[in-house]
Amino acid sequence: MHRDPAPAARRPIRELGDELVSQIAAGEVVERPASVVRELVDNALDAGATEVCVKLSGGGVRGTIVEDDGEGIESDELALALRRHATSKITSLGDLESVLTMGFRGEALAAICSVAEVHLASRTALSPHATRLDARSGEMQAAARAQGTTVEVRELFFSTPARRKFLKTDATELAHCLEAVRRHALARPDVGFTAWHDGKAVLQWRSATARQRVLDVLGADFMAQSVPLELGTATLSVGGYAGLPEAARARADQQYVFVNGRYVRDRLIAHAVRSAYEDVLHGARQPAYVLFIAIAPERVDVNVHPTKVEVRFRDSREVHHAVRSAVSSALAASRAGALPLHTGAALASAANPSQQAATAWARGPAVGNGSPAVPTRAFNAVPWTSSPTQAKLALQELTALHVEEPAAPWRVTRTEPDTHVAAEEDAQSWPLGKALAQVAGIYVLAENSHGLVIVDMHAAHERIVYERLKANSAAAPIEAQPLLIPVTFAASGQEMATAQAQADELLQLGLDISPLSAGTLAVRSQPAALSGGNVVELARSVLAELAQFDASHVVQRARDRILSTMACHGSVRANRKLTLEEMNALLRDMERTERADQCNHGRPTWRQISVKELDRLFWRGQ
Ligand code: ADP
Ligand code: MG
Repeated sequence: MHRDPAPAARRPIRELGDELVSQIAAGEVVERPASVVRELVDNALDAGATEVCVKLSGGGVRGTIVEDDGEGIESDELALALRRHATSKITSLGDLESVLTMGFRGEALAAICSVAEVHLASRTALSPHATRLDARSGEMQAAARAQGTTVEVRELFFSTPARRKFLKTDATELAHCLEAVRRHALARPDVGFTAWHDGKAVLQWRSATARQRVLDVLGADFMAQSVPLELGTATLSVGGYAGLPEAARARADQQYVFVNGRYVRDRLIAHAVRSAYEDVLHGARQPAYVLFIAIAPERVDVNVHPTKVEVRFRDSREVHHAVRSAVSSALAASRAGALPLHTGAALASAANPSQQAATAWARGPAVGNGSPAVPTRAFNAVPWTSSPTQAKLALQELTALHVEEPAAPWRVTRTEPDTHVAAEEDAQSWPLGKALAQVAGIYVLAENSHGLVIVDMHAAHERIVYERLKANSAAAPIEAQPLLIPVTFAASGQEMATAQAQADELLQLGLDISPLSAGTLAVRSQPAALSGGNVVELARSVLAELAQFDASHVVQRARDRILSTMACHGSVRANRKLTLEEMNALLRDMERTERADQCNHGRPTWRQISVKELDRLFWRGQ
């Protein structure tokens, strides 16, 4: 610990004044204007509002006004509402265990009052008029408004300039405020939300169904590129939407988790989702998702964080397992073998008012933010656009593929250049169509009712082999290889405990780990498929996972990793000539295989180029 060289004279212990206590508490609750928005909207929702209006000025720093049509506050309780630890939401510790309101600590309004100018106006159903209270002076006045409450917060941090300095530009603060509204809006589709900034309407969402609200808030692109998920157990339910792997993003900016209607950031849930994507997501990309978890209130503790953005589950393994299963089963269905094409397209267009999004489903996997793409060698996305120069560039990309093509002639014949329907019955009924040729020893070309399908045969085959291995080995134990000389390592108390408690699970993985002495573990066998690796590192990481997560999940994951390595070596390499029959067999296999849209490393396995896009490429009909 750091010590002053010349300690100041000891100061006596004193109790802090009320105002100072609130200011200190405000440090936790009110970080920036968005925190004010979050707390005030929480209060409006707790009051049963059906319409919430947020009016911001100067990024919310100059002013944040939240109006609601909730039950209101009696005029003689207005002053009390602003006091610290004053709440109408709980009266006993017992209430805390089953709390379903957003707030319950009674500190938000007090904290905000200590760092800003606040006016509170409210009217209940029975009062003849509204009453407005000036928090600073305590003055009360009759005011005009319908039933509900208005909280006006001005000049945030005016009395604490040091904190004001931490604020970012108005535009950034505004973005955070709107994000706070967005989270509430996702959680409560039954409530209408409006947001204004400097006199202009920036958001407006009417009360809607859950699905419509997700569409309103996250947009048609998200809807078109995500799958609904649904899972219910005796104690909890998980619903929402999981973004398709190819729609994953560079940033984790579209990841929403709600527990009993409360937006939370939770490492355990994030991990569970991530592990569901592990098999299909490329590298560092971030999946987009919205999850609504409903759990009996006594199974979750919401009182572990001042802003309640973190929660603690009584049975974290149960939650981890449910979330992972819900997401991974939603992702398992591949679109290569999905519904008949016309049904899929109809679904997508029902979901999307915009024409562009309506065809996104039929296009096959796209990379990036929903822009349709053609494959390049490096699997980079080339946005497909209609502008002539860009079309030309895209064309060069496409021809670049052909330049390296082997001697074999490559020709696509289209019987009727202007019809979207292929001549053969097969191409109609098979989602991935009928094989036409092989290009550059890597790509299989096929024609379906939408146009051209391009398949990366190695990537596709790798996925097929992997899924087959997984299906066949589900029950079989992983082969263990005994170590001639046991490897020992110094273990933490946690590691010792896990090794002993989960010895069976470890054996299932081919790992024989047992205590040698207090504080030392010995590894006597490891999975044969992973021999040659760092045994201690492997043991440590498996122990760490077992300590934290559902054991069956850890076993499954480790098994999958081993099988994925095997699949990669067992699949068709590039430059192998395939016959048309073999190509068709590959396409049919893909249609039958789960997760066939991505290889084991998360790269796309196929792309669709529609006839429309081909037409555009040749400036047909322009
Ligand atoms: P908490 O929400 O934790 O109870 P707050 O400081 O946020 O604490 O609010 C204190 C009390 O003021 C609430 O318990 C509630 O009774 C009342 N209140 C605050 N905002 C509103 C509102 N918009 N409508 C009705 N009552 C409100
Ligand atoms: Mg509150």
